Amino acid sequence: MKQIIIYLKTFAFICILYLLFSACSDEVKNGKPISAKKINLQDGVYIFSSGGNNGIVELQTTVKNGAIFSIDVLQSSEKEGIGGKAIFLISKAAIDSNSINIDGISGATITSSCVKRILKETLLAAGASKKQIQSMPLVLPVPEPDITTYSYDVIVIGAGGAGLTAALTAREKGARVAVLEKNGFAGGNTQISGGALSVPGTDLQMQKGIRDSPEQFIQDIVAGGDNKNDITLIEILTKNALGSYEWLRDNIGVAFQQNHVRQFGGHSVPRTYIPEENSGDAIIRPLLKKCEDLNIDFFYNTKAVKLIRNYEAVNGIIAKNNKTTITFYASRGVILATGGFGANLAMREQYNPNFGKKYKTTCLLSSSGDGITMAQEAGAKIIDMEYIQVYPACNPLNGTISYVANARFDGAVLVNKEGKRFTDEGGRRDVISQAILAQTDGCAYLVWGNEIESIGKMTELHAIEYKNLEKNKLIIKADSLKEAAAFFGIDEKAFSAEIEKFNTFAANKKDTDFNKTGALRKIETGPFFIQKVSPATHHTMGGLAINEKAQVKSADGGFIKGLYAAGEVTGGIHGTNRLGGNAITDIITFGRIAGQNAAE
Ligand code: ADP
Repeated sequence: MKQIIIYLKTFAFICILYLLFSACSDEVKNGKPISAKKINLQDGVYIFSSGGNNGIVELQTTVKNGAIFSIDVLQSSEKEGIGGKAIFLISKAAIDSNSINIDGISGATITSSCVKRILKETLLAAGASKKQIQSMPLVLPVPEPDITTYSYDVIVIGAGGAGLTAALTAREKGARVAVLEKNGFAGGNTQISGGALSVPGTDLQMQKGIRDSPEQFIQDIVAGGDNKNDITLIEILTKNALGSYEWLRDNIGVAFQQNHVRQFGGHSVPRTYIPEENSGDAIIRPLLKKCEDLNIDFFYNTKAVKLIRNYEAVNGIIAKNNKTTITFYASRGVILATGGFGANLAMREQYNPNFGKKYKTTCLLSSSGDGITMAQEAGAKIIDMEYIQVYPACNPLNGTISYVANARFDGAVLVNKEGKRFTDEGGRRDVISQAILAQTDGCAYLVWGNEIESIGKMTELHAIEYKNLEKNKLIIKADSLKEAAAFFGIDEKAFSAEIEKFNTFAANKKDTDFNKTGALRKIETGPFFIQKVSPATHHTMGGLAINEKAQVKSADGGFIKGLYAAGEVTGGIHGTNRLGGNAITDIITFGRIAGQNAAE
């Protein structure tokens, strides 16, 4: 940690500070009670930094009249809706209470600890003793509610993409809606996804001469899911996909990349759209804003633990906020939108021991299968639990999905340590992942040159991830392929011959080794990139069985009245293996169906 004297900061610098967020409490300004006031901190401005989830976080704390007055973010690469929200909430709590003994934000533990480390350094520099800091009162950044019983028409569990869509739809149908979210923020895995959505039959496809239809989409989904898919549900999915895309674009205001339709693995034609900012944030942010504008009530840090079911129907949910138990009654329905169980090791091992410890996960820790467990206890039917998908191109150190590695969709190829290609890089995720795991060290090296980089500009578009990969020696940019290969100890001779051979495939538009799906582009102009990747668990295809109205089926036959589900918590749609871009199509389509039916 470093301390910097700030009095000589330039005006421009101050402007930048204010462009970044500023947490500042009127209560403190107005001299309202400050619990730890007795400490009497030394007035001044203190700047400290520490490592967060995505790199350095640097905060400037102003102490005025002996108390914390304001906290500004000078530097942070934390994800806006997750770590960014944690910085904001903890800073606000510190200002309001003048204590730094603050509970972390659920779901953003690393950033929370980072902020608390910075605040501790700050207070020590401002004259507080370690003992004084230790005896500060514990503060909850998201206060526990005083009321312990609520009644709504519709209760939605989970504020990811499916939950927000369902909540909004139910509200637009006139229902009074509450959303319970166990994390301190909305977004779930949808937020950290690439936000891609697969849709057949768009104008752009027609303009580009791409022939596609819901029927062709069904064929691809069934081929990708090994024929294990629920045909009724995929008919609904494929017929409504275009409507879901248009709803996101026209009603919610999600800006998708113009003129760019991509061919993701397992799709027979290009039909996948990506938001302009290439991230699920671009979907979550406007959805959340719309929900808030329509006065949907959000209960964060509120974990649903048990469905209330009388013998006829589900009519509520018991939840926990810290130590408080809260009962939520729902007169029209409860919608489970709690996501999958990719981060729950015990559950993965229970349903398919092949996906145990050896895999890291791309999921947030909150993907723990709660909705599946709660519904099962209430008599729900579950299906396809053994089908767990691994994503091929992840960060080998922490399992996070790599968006820089999306260069694969523009034509990058995979080689092993021996310098040889070993699979169709545009094939199914499960096939590529298994192939990678079978290589030396269970990892692979993604290779591309400027011909490919200049199309998607992945290293620019995902500059924060790229910087982190560089720092961790997981990617190299070099003027020659030889230099890049040497960095990872890849067999240079075999590698050069392999890329030369691949370039002839690209020239002849035919890959006679692996029949590569999608773009065949040469790799002969620098700068060249090589990125080390390995697979991690990503999506759980199994979950609650639902009918065409998104009602949860009962283990005894029929469905459970009052209980709906949408998104990754459900099973049956994707069969053994979900195709890329189909999760967002699924959560929006079935989120809307669940919201509409529950409200009615
Ligand atoms: P989907 O893609 O299906 O919308 P996400 O992973 O995006 O799934 O979102 C699921 C959300 O549900 C996450 O924000 C997660 O924190 C939340 N969640 C999971 N279990 C619970 C629970 N028991 N109570 C409240 N929220 C939950």
